[in-house]
Amino acid sequence: MQSMQLTLLASKQKDVFLPYVDNYVNSISATLRPISLKIHDNPELNFREYIAHEVITTFLESQKGWEVTRSAYGLETAFVAVFDSGTPGPVISYNAEYDALAGIGHACGHNLIAIVSIGAALAAAAALTHFSLPGKVLIFGTPGEEGGGGKIMLLERGAYTDHKVDISLISHPGPAGDSVLSKTTAYTGFIAEYTGKAAHAAAAPWEGINALDALLLAYNGMSMLRQQTMPGDILQGYITNGGVAPNIIHAYAAGEFVARAATKTRRDILKAQLQNCFHAGASATGATLHFTQLESYDDMVPNLVLGAICRTAFNKLGGAIPAANEELARGGTKVSTDQGNVSYAMPSISLGFGIVSEEGNHNPKFAEAARTRDAHARAMRAAKALAVTGCIVLADDEVLGEARKEWKEAVGRKGDHEELGSI
Ligand SMILES: [Zn+2]
Ligand SMILES: [Zn+2]
Repeated sequence: MQSMQLTLLASKQKDVFLPYVDNYVNSISATLRPISLKIHDNPELNFREYIAHEVITTFLESQKGWEVTRSAYGLETAFVAVFDSGTPGPVISYNAEYDALAGIGHACGHNLIAIVSIGAALAAAAALTHFSLPGKVLIFGTPGEEGGGGKIMLLERGAYTDHKVDISLISHPGPAGDSVLSKTTAYTGFIAEYTGKAAHAAAAPWEGINALDALLLAYNGMSMLRQQTMPGDILQGYITNGGVAPNIIHAYAAGEFVARAATKTRRDILKAQLQNCFHAGASATGATLHFTQLESYDDMVPNLVLGAICRTAFNKLGGAIPAANEELARGGTKVSTDQGNVSYAMPSISLGFGIVSEEGNHNPKFAEAARTRDAHARAMRAAKALAVTGCIVLADDEVLGEARKEWKEAVGRKGDHEELGSI
């Protein structure tokens, strides 16, 4: 899309939603703060976010007009909350994350992601009533972002299609600056297990089949493959079981491996190449190979239309998201998120907002930073910008049409790469 058109779309904000949303979020900020602290001070791992689920759903149930489904779609700690204007129209959604990391608590700041999405959704719903807009506002409680991929499960179980969701909005705190067109890395993980045959390693080694040898061949194959990967490709792995004793031919060996790449298409090609190394190990030794597929997170497909609206609002509130060209020129980050999978299903943006932290995400000091009043204030700014983005989509069919058109083209372009076998 031409930058002129984006400027026009951004100018449609007409300054009506921003002052309203600004005031509204300010009025609920003090209510959201204890929710953030409760989640932060009780860090819970993926799919066991019971306290977070309880605190958030109880709060949303107390809000007028919201229909809350706890433990939605067979996931104990997922939820869906719906605010319906009663008039058919666009359906906008916000994903709330709230899982923590083992040993270092909320070192990814998901307590902030939760209150940004709740604050933005409540503000958009209030605007829906105040400005008599059509459509619906939804919040999905999406567990297990740090492992397991709760959003992927919700996607697969029909949560987004059941509710005919048009767009998905989310945010993420980080240690650096602000962003709205972040491109994350596509990720996939798998367990590889070899089963061989035990034998006395001195008396009759020829009677055995060495599973560890098979795994080491695969591991070395992975190391050689690294020489011929593309920029952005990453291969990782470790051995979880390397046999039981030196005097036994190893009957069993296992490890966990990861392939990451700039796009999901490239990731799948890389994964196939990596798994060929494992087939080579099996073929060379005679050991039997078994793969167990773990989660696959797709890369984030940024949306320039939604990004332009969000950037304008966020920067008017004092944020510093760079221009689209500048942001896109920076390239992608090496981290991965299951919001990427959502971005392949519908137009989506993830608003990255900087908080003051000496260390980056997944470090103990980031957990401390995610608890400060300053981080809360920055989260509230993110909530306002995402609320305005939602309001404009609800108010203007043309914006949704443009966002969808861009998304279709972007996802279609990525599909082409499948045939070309490159990114
Ligand atoms: Zn995170
Ligand atoms: Zn994280």
